[in-house]
Amino acid sequence: MLNRLHGDEPPSIAIIGCGLAGAAVAWQAIHRGWSITVIDRADSESCSRVAAGLVTPITGGRAAASWQWDLFFPMARTFYKRIEQTTGGQFWHEQPALKVFQSAEEQSLFQNRWNVPPENETMPSVQPFDRQACPVLNMPFSAALLQPAARLETSSYLDATKDFLQRQSSLHEMDLDCDRDIVFTPQPKIAGLDGCFDAIFFCQGFAARENRWFRDLPLHPARGDILKIAAPPAFPTDHVVHHSAWIVPDGNGELLLGATYDRKTLDGVVDDRAEVVEARVTLLDRFRELLAPPSRNASIKVLKHRAAVRPASYDRHPLIGQHREHPSLFCLNGLGSKGSLMSPLLADALLNCMNGKAIPKEWDWNRMLTSKSLNRNENPNTRSD
Ligand SMILES: Cc1cc2nc3c(=O)[nH]c(=O)nc-3n(C[C@H](O)[C@H](O)[C@H](O)COP(=O)(O)OP(=O)(O)OC[C@H]3O[C@@H](n4cnc5c(N)ncnc54)[C@H](O)[C@@H]3O)c2cc1C
Repeated sequence: MLNRLHGDEPPSIAIIGCGLAGAAVAWQAIHRGWSITVIDRADSESCSRVAAGLVTPITGGRAAASWQWDLFFPMARTFYKRIEQTTGGQFWHEQPALKVFQSAEEQSLFQNRWNVPPENETMPSVQPFDRQACPVLNMPFSAALLQPAARLETSSYLDATKDFLQRQSSLHEMDLDCDRDIVFTPQPKIAGLDGCFDAIFFCQGFAARENRWFRDLPLHPARGDILKIAAPPAFPTDHVVHHSAWIVPDGNGELLLGATYDRKTLDGVVDDRAEVVEARVTLLDRFRELLAPPSRNASIKVLKHRAAVRPASYDRHPLIGQHREHPSLFCLNGLGSKGSLMSPLLADALLNCMNGKAIPKEWDWNRMLTSKSLNRNENPNTRSD
């Protein structure tokens, strides 16, 4: 167990990475009164900054509630509202999401599954939507409103977090070489920074692959592309729309349109490669499908194309916990497509783990390691699908 947790002095921790994972660990530690040092290389195109930040109660083809929604959503809502109060920012927006059904089967699946009122207002519910209200959308199989749904404006949230950390002198903008710059004395120390830490939390997303301490982390990453486009006339701006793509009103007559899943092109570079062009064409085709004629045939102005690699796992569940040999090293990773929803509760569980509380098995990164990969000390990241 970590030394200072048993003394009067609050623990001192370092957090490597300030995306959604690292920011959540930082705030949960601040709320406990711990001393924190955050290191981040300030990548403007990090996965967390490219993300749309959607929090959606019902996801996937089976019309099921998002995994462990009843645990994750109440914590996320309380957490982001608290940080808005602390920082004076506004980045957590709750608004029902508009689900446009793609087939009669999908429509009846939703209707049959979600025909009873929710137990409480944090649980998912599906309300009818009057399609006449939105003639610009093509809705042959009707549509429904999903709630509670939310959007975290991730860049605003991360900027507010970094501003706060900067004012506390807790932020170091640098690119840490985790292999070289972390030493044990026997407590962990980071080259160039004063003092030792009680624990180091690695929150590096896909870049964890560069880190020898968590080289076994079984990531199954997926690139996602996202476009910013000019909204066609009369396009609804009250709701995020989910169809074969999602569309997010982003203010100033602009929409975000996303996102693709590509497990082969593992970088965030936007250039003229065939796969990048294909991602853009796919998203625009999906957007057109959603538009009723004549809007469908109008040209769509692309304002920006961005991409990043999601740190997903093989079973789509998070990867958090302690290093097997160095109990003062922890990781929070594997957030996949749900970093906004899951990071607050996972960060809380990780800090509780420092106090000796077990991490639920379905979140623990060790669940995915086979004895074979441990024995050979091979990196499961390199295996193919
Ligand atoms: C196109 C797209 C759309 C998405 N949409 C959504 C969505 O709607 N809702 C949602 O919840 N999620 C969405 N996601 C997923 C979401 O972005 C991820 O779950 C989340 O960003 C992962 O956060 P992270 O902190 O683990 O990783 P990252 O965002 O990659 O953060 C890691 C941070 O660590 C820093 N870092 C890494 N190594 C070092 C080092 N050695 N030294 C210093 N700094 C370092 C990086 O610079 C970065 O700031 C989307 C992702 C993509 C690509």
